[in-house]
Amino acid sequence: MVNVLPLETTLTYGPLFSRRLGRSLGVNVLPFNCKVCSFDCLYCHYGRTTMHTVSPEGVAFPDVAVVLQAIETALRRYPYVDALTFSGNGEPTLHPHFPAIVAAARRLRDALAPHVKLALFSNATTAHLPHIQESLGDFDLPILKLDAGDPATLAQVNRPAAGVTLEDILTGLKATSHLIVQSVLIDGKVSNITAEALETWAAALDAIRPAAVQIYSTDYPVPDAGVERVPPYILKRIASDVTKRTGINVEAFWW
Ligand code: SF4
Repeated sequence: MVNVLPLETTLTYGPLFSRRLGRSLGVNVLPFNCKVCSFDCLYCHYGRTTMHTVSPEGVAFPDVAVVLQAIETALRRYPYVDALTFSGNGEPTLHPHFPAIVAAARRLRDALAPHVKLALFSNATTAHLPHIQESLGDFDLPILKLDAGDPATLAQVNRPAAGVTLEDILTGLKATSHLIVQSVLIDGKVSNITAEALETWAAALDAIRPAAVQIYSTDYPVPDAGVERVPPYILKRIASDVTKRTGINVEAFWW
């Protein structure tokens, strides 16, 4: 049943190419030996969450100075990349010094490679916290997850840690400027493309009013064999329907 990708074992990785970000250098501010996340998504290509919490304690996060040295080295080595992307082994905003790392990374970017976009993949579970919300303003591309617009679907698809609420997630998303929402749609024994789930998700997007929404399905190995991929023609139809309904730019990706 477990069929997943290995965790990142370095502070920076890549460059990787994606249609959304171009050539992107990944930044992993999370430990190498366990996945630290406030979600345990059914489809996570890193497998099950080992440290499942929104307030990690006793976790050996990488040292700030060491992370910044790695970012500087990577930017000097790959100055031609399009993006420097915070992602990695779980939820990056759970690093206790996340805002300081991001602010310093932005200064490094400005000095060494000002054309490089600073991007973040986050699950939005901390975006309502004032210090994280302020830090999100440092990103050119804050890409935050929303897979569900109702608590029951959130519980099934994302399996949030204790203390995480949909209300807080929506508060954080609404407060984030130039927000890009990213949604993973799945089918199978758990689905967020039922009529009811799509209705609440589209209503949540309408209330958040992000700059753009990117939808896709899983194309990596996933930890749960019951997760089924949503085919491109359905993704395209959902994107078109939600754009018509909300006026928000919703784009479907399938690679
Ligand atoms: S939020 Fe991201 S890292 Fe965390 S479990 Fe979900 S897919 Fe995996």
